[in-house]
Amino acid sequence: MIYNRRKSNIVSIGNVAIGEDNPIAVESMTNTDTRDIAATVRQIHKLTEAGCEIIRAAVPDMQAAEALGEIKRQINIPLIADIHFDYRLALESIKQGVDSLRINPGNIGSHERVCLVANAAKERGVPIRIGVNAGSLEQTFIDKYSGVTPAAMAESALSHVRILEDLDFGQIVISMKSSSVPKTLEAYRIIAPQVAYPLHIGITESGTLHSGTIKSTAGISALLSHGIGDTIRVSLTADPIEEVKLGRGILQAMEIRRFNPELVSCPTCGRTEIDLIPLAQQVEAFLATISKPIKVAVMGCVVNGPGEARDADIGIAGGKGEGLIFAKGQIIAKAPEHKLPELLFAEITKIIE
Ligand code: SF4
Repeated sequence: MIYNRRKSNIVSIGNVAIGEDNPIAVESMTNTDTRDIAATVRQIHKLTEAGCEIIRAAVPDMQAAEALGEIKRQINIPLIADIHFDYRLALESIKQGVDSLRINPGNIGSHERVCLVANAAKERGVPIRIGVNAGSLEQTFIDKYSGVTPAAMAESALSHVRILEDLDFGQIVISMKSSSVPKTLEAYRIIAPQVAYPLHIGITESGTLHSGTIKSTAGISALLSHGIGDTIRVSLTADPIEEVKLGRGILQAMEIRRFNPELVSCPTCGRTEIDLIPLAQQVEAFLATISKPIKVAVMGCVVNGPGEARDADIGIAGGKGEGLIFAKGQIIAKAPEHKLPELLFAEITKIIE
């Protein structure tokens, strides 16, 4: 990784270790009714298949908490219980065997209740993620900072941290999310040097697939480039599968992890002499069926084409109604335009076998 990653403690969420040099994990959240065990398990399986590494489920009531044990037994990735305010739901979730809790200790009432949750979590080795959200920031901090500011969010998070530290609880992960990219960046920038706990990052309520992709990519990438982020969750008003795909895509685009083939294709211009856009789309669809992280270039002409194609494992550089195919910098074929996809796919298949 080319970015100078922030040093942090290691916290284990089930069998996924986060922080320090561990891979930055991709997290998502179910949007099924957690009480519907079959539907929730089905969705988690689909998300796992798409590359989700940690899953979080909302626990709005006791029936949902009681469903967690059975859900956990039927899935293969760590399960986080997302709880607001009710310490009994936290205790039941721990009893059901969840791998982590997302709960803010300052919001669950008396010191005695906090102790009960922290002790039960400690006994079972269950980490707690403190998740500050701009939309539900405590009034005390809003008043102190005259609004929902990054400093207010960071101080809120630190206040929850101190509650756990006072109970000698150290398996902590922190997140501070806002729907504003600059505010989120600043909140993490404030807190990052003050604690050694792993940081979970994301832009919350970022929008639909299109607008949310822009905001999430901008925010998460900026944080990653500053070495901040040990787990990521993209939040979209869309199928959570899209969150996982985008989360992985961001990590891959930032060259932090590689999961899938990478397509390099040019924007086309007045020099393009082959019909490149449908060709690039065809290649992209083919690459979607492959999980090996190879680099494939689809370039419109010989100006930049051979250069990019040389750098790729395999690539096409277009000419007038024809194209060259390069593999590891060597021209391996010249073919008329209509033959290019077939030839390229055959060569890619050879590489990945
Ligand atoms: Fe234009 Fe060639 Fe660059 Fe594509 S690779 S944008 S066709 S100059």
